[in-house]
Amino acid sequence: MSTNIFDIAKIRDAVLKCEKCPLKEFVHVPGDGSTNPDILIVGEAPGRTEAELGLPFVGASGGLLRMFLNLVGFEKEDYYITNAVKCRPPGNSTPGMLHIDECKEHLDREIMFYKPLVIVGLGVTASLALSRDSSPGYRISDYRGTFYKSTFGGIEYDIFFTYHPAAALYDKSKEGIILSDLKTLKKFIEKKIG
Ligand code: SF4
Repeated sequence: MSTNIFDIAKIRDAVLKCEKCPLKEFVHVPGDGSTNPDILIVGEAPGRTEAELGLPFVGASGGLLRMFLNLVGFEKEDYYITNAVKCRPPGNSTPGMLHIDECKEHLDREIMFYKPLVIVGLGVTASLALSRDSSPGYRISDYRGTFYKSTFGGIEYDIFFTYHPAAALYDKSKEGIILSDLKTLKKFIEKKIG
């Protein structure tokens, strides 16, 4: 992996021009958000609204996530949001490991550029991109709400997982769990900042 692209404009441009995997035929959506984030949030892949607007997490689940972040006291300046897979898969299908693996270079560059206090993975696709654990029976309910360590570019980061907000659109019981997890995240960051 090339690590000499430490300019967010170049990182965005590399995403927009990328042809590394079969999703190259579809709309490319780079990350967006604070230029000095405490949190780097990783979702799955762009949805229809994201593809139309060229921005991550601006559809229904993105609105829910931003409302939850606001409810627990995070400001827009606190976070940068991106996806594990930057192009919208056809038919809103779940990205495969090929797409996650090929797209990881872009995610790694975003992490190495921003050096956030915590990386937050939303849902299984993000957790596969961040933890590389693809063992059978791997369920996000088993490890959400807990902090892990992972190294990117020689620096060890705190990683935290919760459900993807899209899950809460279909299962209201997940709303309280995501909110609870984000409160845990908020306390962790406040303690870390001191
Ligand atoms: S999904 Fe990622 S790796 Fe595949 S073409 Fe899009 S930007 Fe490139």
